[in-house]
Amino acid sequence: MLLLAAMLLGWMVGQAQLALLLAALGSLAWQLRQLYRLDRWLDGPREANPPAAGLVWEGIIDRFARLRRQSRKRKRKLSRLLRQFQQATAALPDAAVVLSEDDRMLWCNGASQSLLGLSPTRDIGLPIIHLLRQPDFVAFLTQRRQVDSVEFPSPTAEAFLLSARIVPYGKKQRLLLVADISRIRRLEQMRREFVANVSHELRTPLTVITGYLETLLDSDSPALLEWDQPLHCMQQQSRRMLHIIEDLLTLARLESPKERMPFKPVAVPTLLADIADDAIALSGEQGHQITVTADPALRILGYEKDLRSAFANLVFNAVRYTPPGGQIEVRWFVDGKGIHLAVEDNGEGIAPQHLPRLTERFYRVNRDRSRGSGGTGLGLSIVKHILNNHGSQLRIKSELGVGSVFTCDFPSELRVDPASARTGD
Ligand code: ADP
Repeated sequence: MLLLAAMLLGWMVGQAQLALLLAALGSLAWQLRQLYRLDRWLDGPREANPPAAGLVWEGIIDRFARLRRQSRKRKRKLSRLLRQFQQATAALPDAAVVLSEDDRMLWCNGASQSLLGLSPTRDIGLPIIHLLRQPDFVAFLTQRRQVDSVEFPSPTAEAFLLSARIVPYGKKQRLLLVADISRIRRLEQMRREFVANVSHELRTPLTVITGYLETLLDSDSPALLEWDQPLHCMQQQSRRMLHIIEDLLTLARLESPKERMPFKPVAVPTLLADIADDAIALSGEQGHQITVTADPALRILGYEKDLRSAFANLVFNAVRYTPPGGQIEVRWFVDGKGIHLAVEDNGEGIAPQHLPRLTERFYRVNRDRSRGSGGTGLGLSIVKHILNNHGSQLRIKSELGVGSVFTCDFPSELRVDPASARTGD
């Protein structure tokens, strides 16, 4: 409209082109001035009023002002959330470290400084294995071992024992969570020592009582005739108590984390033959059918005494929980998944709800039945610990009234090379 009016005016004075040019230049200058004011306002302080403008500029500036207000509100909300997140992570007693895809440190919380000695400013971007050099932690991180967590001493104070876990986080990032478990370990240690000490203290007086009871029972004195029954009962109970104490001491030894002796080759087939003889003796007149199928060249690395105790526990349990004349099959074999010892019986079986708890201390399906057959309720717990110390697991399959299979699964790495077995190495 401005250009049209200018052209009309110019045409009336005979200078239409000049008037059009002047009007165009004037309009361009005004638009540039508006742009300049808008630019100044956007650059200026947040509180400054938007520049007054006419025509289409007013709409544009209004929209800008609205967007600015919204973005300011969002920013305030985000910084509030960030502050809350930072306060929460700073209050966490556990160390939390965000790792990039190539395991560099991207962020860490306050506890990472005291537990791991990390600095949230100095160490950002550095590979975490340069910052935490404990061999167990490095092996856990680099080999991505199939374990949930790893324990290692704190680099800031040797007395702290730490447990680290890694969880996937964000886009290809990982979150390293490290907790101080020194207190839990100390309490566990105290519990272990307490049980071991009590067992030691009780063993001596009990051995004395059992010894005297034996002497009394062996005596031909007529005065003791009427005491025969109660003395037998006392002897049976004191023997049971001694068994429990022996089993508790075995468990305490198996649990103690002190340096262990190196593994040695164990000729399991010979071991199983001995155990089968003992099992036949235990079965006695009950006449269980006990068969052993063992690969004669299959030997493993381990602790012979412990493995004998674990295998004997499983085979004797099979005898004790299988009715007279029942079948018990012991198999020692290797397959693609590892080395296995399976003890199968066609005895009373176990209801599924008991299976997950069988290896707990003193857990028994039927307390009286277990006591009656001389059980302590610690046998399977001992088996589990022995297998743990060999990096192995116990698998239990059972059906009520049909029978049970207890399988020890050993990793293939424990196998003694058959060539060295032939040379008797
Ligand atoms: P216990 O000394 O009572 O036998 P264990 O720890 O050896 O203690 O076994 C725990 C429980 O598991 C037993 O009380 C028994 O109920 C059950 N059990 C173990 N082996 C067998 C088996 N072969 N057949 C059926 N039940 C079994």
